[in-house]
Amino acid sequence: MGKSKTMNCRVCGTEIAKSAKSCPQCGAKNKKPIYKKWYFWLLVLIIAMIAISSSGGDSADTEPVEYVVTDIKTMADELENNALNAEDTYSDAYLEITGVLNSVDSDGSYITVTHYQDAYGFDSIQCFVKDDTQLDVIKTKSVGDTVTVKGQISNIGELLGYTMDIHEIF
Ligand SMILES: [Zn+2]
Repeated sequence: MGKSKTMNCRVCGTEIAKSAKSCPQCGAKNKKPIYKKWYFWLLVLIIAMIAISSSGGDSADTEPVEYVVTDIKTMADELENNALNAEDTYSDAYLEITGVLNSVDSDGSYITVTHYQDAYGFDSIQCFVKDDTQLDVIKTKSVGDTVTVKGQISNIGELLGYTMDIHEIF
């Protein structure tokens, strides 16, 4: 059978003509469900297109961040030589730094990473812990261990050096 010219009433199930405005049996209006109407799908398409274009607008937030691999010695030297240049280079930068775990804050709010043990000042980067996963990694480490920190520079001070927010530590 091809396309039937009849259908069943959605309310009482009586076979009625598709073109009938209402069911002769129960009087229910014979309306197509909304998803069978062409303008419903047009609306869905428009909403989908708006959703796609608006999510494309802030793609910078969703794109994976690229961490620049650098070392603390280079960063410290730049800060010492010219704090203004260091600020230009490293402000809000996403960095991957490998160094020596120099200290762990007793509250677990930050660690310091240096390029040689017992370094301080510019040679030490204060890295702030952001979640429990990072804390769990830090708990497995001891001062003097090598650590790699991926994160974003949050502050550059002429006196205190660099601070960064940890995104990942291993
Ligand atoms: Zn009916």
